[in-house]
Amino acid sequence: MDRTNRIKLAAVGVAVLAAVVASVEFLAMRNYRETVILGPSVSEVRKLSQYEPSLSGTPNDVNIYIMDSGKPGGTVMVLGGTHPEEPVGPIAAHILVENARLEAGRLVVVTRANRSASLYSRNGEAYPNFFRVKTDWGEKKWRLGDRGGSPLDSWPDPEVYVHWPSHQMLAYMDIRNLNRTWPGRADGLLTERTTFGLMNFIRQEKVDMLIDLHEAELEYPVENTIVAHEKAQEIAAMASMMLTAQEFAVPIGMEFSPKALHGLSHREVGDYSEAMSILFEVAEPMLDRIRGVTDESLLMEGKDDFVVEAGKHGLLYAPMDEKGWPIEVRVGRHLSTILQCIDIFSMMTPDRSVTVSGVPRYAEVIEKGPGAFLKDPAQAEKIAQD
Ligand SMILES: [Zn+2]
Repeated sequence: MDRTNRIKLAAVGVAVLAAVVASVEFLAMRNYRETVILGPSVSEVRKLSQYEPSLSGTPNDVNIYIMDSGKPGGTVMVLGGTHPEEPVGPIAAHILVENARLEAGRLVVVTRANRSASLYSRNGEAYPNFFRVKTDWGEKKWRLGDRGGSPLDSWPDPEVYVHWPSHQMLAYMDIRNLNRTWPGRADGLLTERTTFGLMNFIRQEKVDMLIDLHEAELEYPVENTIVAHEKAQEIAAMASMMLTAQEFAVPIGMEFSPKALHGLSHREVGDYSEAMSILFEVAEPMLDRIRGVTDESLLMEGKDDFVVEAGKHGLLYAPMDEKGWPIEVRVGRHLSTILQCIDIFSMMTPDRSVTVSGVPRYAEVIEKGPGAFLKDPAQAEKIAQD
């Protein structure tokens, strides 16, 4: 064998080795199951395929955790994991399922709204595969995932994604983005069928308010805010005023869901059901393009010198300093915002009220950390897996 061929053979060997190492890591991520401890008020765990049968056997036949007080009232639904690279959604959703006590009405939680998107990682961005929260009993671990569903589960993407039923043309990969496929359709691709199933649940179960949990890069203008469908505007406005005045160090704003922008939960759920729909955003520095090393500590601690520098140049829509945006601040904000919106909704519509206790608010999550509210699976009576 001449020298050129030996170099070629060595290059193939290195490539194969890299592929094997990567495959082992990606398979471990795809096969990892997250444990959810069923808290004191969980009365039932349903499957989304009950509402859209074609999801049966797919990664998006997700668990729907139902907490029923057994007393009359309304129904509030919370979605975590719409975008898995925004970890506060699943963490806050687990805290709700494991701790909430329902005294009136029902609280329904989905911890992994687009589960397929949590089963793979973003190409070329070196995202960590997992994230962990420290607790008294050890670490609780989740898959990180990407913004859209895995191409292994939904393929091929169209040249242009034509949103149903508006016919608005969107970027091709957004056909796998759960927050661009509402209200969905039964004969669409996986993510469209997922939102279709969620819409069926919302209509059949008479959900009064849908809350969709997100995080956003500081370079993005829709930040630290509540985006509200017109039906939810009063609740969002009151919640933003009260939380800003009484609880949060950085104010939470309120904005209107644009009528001409389609596929988003805050627009379509309100338009295609009786429910009012709202979406929360909080700052996550790891999502910023300008960030430094993309690792688990940036994800969880939210500290980054490059993002701080961008702030000094006036390029950000959220304050940023050396303290960053740690996970306890982000989880605490979302939990307080959920509880505040539920309280205001219950005050405005007493016959559909939902009363929740046992869920920590902002100050308590910052003081004790989110791990203090995650239960030990070894001590749990009932668990489920996502
Ligand atoms: Zn998001």
